Amino acid sequence: MRASQFLIATQKETPADAEVISHQLMLRAGLIRRLASGLYTWLPMGLRSIRKVETIVRKELEAAGAQELLMPAVQPGELWQESGRWHQYGPELLRLKDRHQRDFCIGPTHEEVITDMMRKEVRSYKSLPMNFYQIQTKFRDEVRPRFGVMRSREFIMKDAYSFHLDQESLQHTYNKMHQAYTNIFTRLGLNFRAVRADSGSIGGDASQEFHVLAQSGEDDIAFSNSGQSSFAANLETAEAVLLPNVLRAAPGKSLEKVHTPDQKTIDSVCEFLGQASSQSLKTLVVLGATDDAEHQPLVALVLRGDHSMNEIKAEKHALISTPLTMAPEQRIIDELGTTSGSIGPVGLTISIIADRAASLMSDFTAGANQTGYHHTNLNWQRDCNYTQVADLRDVVEGDPSPCGMGEIEIKRGIEVGHVFQLGDKYSRAMNATVLNENGKPSFMQMGCYGIGITRVVAACIEQNFDDKGIMWPLALAPFEVALIPLNYEKSEAVREATDKLYGALKATGIDVIMDDRPMRAGVKFADAELIGLPHRVVIGDRGLESGTLEYRDRRAAANEDIPLEGALDFIKLKLGRF
Ligand code: ATP
Ligand code: MG
Repeated sequence: MRASQFLIATQKETPADAEVISHQLMLRAGLIRRLASGLYTWLPMGLRSIRKVETIVRKELEAAGAQELLMPAVQPGELWQESGRWHQYGPELLRLKDRHQRDFCIGPTHEEVITDMMRKEVRSYKSLPMNFYQIQTKFRDEVRPRFGVMRSREFIMKDAYSFHLDQESLQHTYNKMHQAYTNIFTRLGLNFRAVRADSGSIGGDASQEFHVLAQSGEDDIAFSNSGQSSFAANLETAEAVLLPNVLRAAPGKSLEKVHTPDQKTIDSVCEFLGQASSQSLKTLVVLGATDDAEHQPLVALVLRGDHSMNEIKAEKHALISTPLTMAPEQRIIDELGTTSGSIGPVGLTISIIADRAASLMSDFTAGANQTGYHHTNLNWQRDCNYTQVADLRDVVEGDPSPCGMGEIEIKRGIEVGHVFQLGDKYSRAMNATVLNENGKPSFMQMGCYGIGITRVVAACIEQNFDDKGIMWPLALAPFEVALIPLNYEKSEAVREATDKLYGALKATGIDVIMDDRPMRAGVKFADAELIGLPHRVVIGDRGLESGTLEYRDRRAAANEDIPLEGALDFIKLKLGRF
């Protein structure tokens, strides 16, 4: 590619609205442009990286036995009614009507469409297993689109769906896809981890996420710090465990009721009383699970003041309603005779579920169910009781790892991929069956597997940059080599040597951009560094006189002179192509 015929849309200024480094650099390097909130144009330079991700993804998925298809972006509402997600999905689903007033949506994911396809195409278990994938544009009307293409509204996803007669076959394909994902993210040169995850609104039994580790990540990943353990889980699901043999200390002091005027938060009460928040108990009142929608009971959840409630764990509890809903203030006033700010466990007549750590506290502080008062030196059994103990909180650093080895360490991650076992969630709702060995209809077992193609590009930049710009891993670079002639227009020797090497590189299949723009060398160097091209070769009159070119690895500290004659072989060697 000649730079003079290619849109190089670099910018000097750091865009004010771009919070994270990848977003800033993608705008500055001219990879993307914003059209509207969460909507981006991929400029030619950026699209080249997308295509490289797609190529690697296609190769690994084909090797894992998946076949490519392409489904429509616009999907009939009826299918979503059938699966039940038309009502469940909420405002992330962009709904629209056609000219006949029929409901449609722009697909945020494609379980319904593929299940509909399979129930029509496949009759017998003998056709299974089958695994399909597509690389296609999704739309999710995200509450807070941000970080550029990292959390956009329109984005490119690779989604795959596998169909099986039984769980064993599903597990087999799931494992193959897990391996394919590991191969893909390794080939892309990313520092990533596979972590245990929650299956969220898609449902199902087993689920793992692939995270690129980066400070700007929106997810917290809990790891074991033990060298012997590979435990890693999304904070949403990491279990908070107690060390074995740790018992609750016996009560040490007698119960007191203290006046705490105008202290509304846990922190302010603790400061007022001169204690650590880990010595206080917080009580949250939520709606309980019931079949009687008219009257949902109130349930109290108690946690240590310094711990945060984990909503996913809480709503999975049998006594708690899904989705997790805080009790309306008026019900707390009417039924418990106090306000949410003053509530505590003494004398509460509703079910009290204590977090594991909270159940071990003694001589603790809590609201006294009376405005402006707290109890101090409270003790379970002596002064109050809980109904049950459960894991209700987020793990924190230093907690024992649930694998039994080491302690929890927390790092930020960007979710780039997700593998799920869906079981028969969709096939049952949409009556997608095959005839089994006995000629009986059996719901197909399903797996689904996603990769955020556009997010991968941004996540890669989060891990690969310096103060001059992007530093692409070779696999994702828009161009592998920047060939920069000095004085290309005027010097015949430079033009001749450049054109020859350019032709030879192209003939070898190397992705090269030759910067023939009539610009100062400094501008060209700065552009190549900002865009992050891994290898740079400079051809100038002075070097040519002694038969040399100047080579620089984007990650190296200095230039190297290389002989003009051996330049092609030298570059091939650098790119690992010989
Ligand atoms: P997140 O928790 O980040 O919203 P998700 O769990 O909703 O992700 P999936 O439904 O598993 O995502 O979608 C598969 C992949 O699509 C994700 O792993 C992610 O890489 C990508 N993805 C999801 N939402 C977006 C988005 N708004 N912008 C860009 N990529 C996205
Ligand atoms: Mg999401």
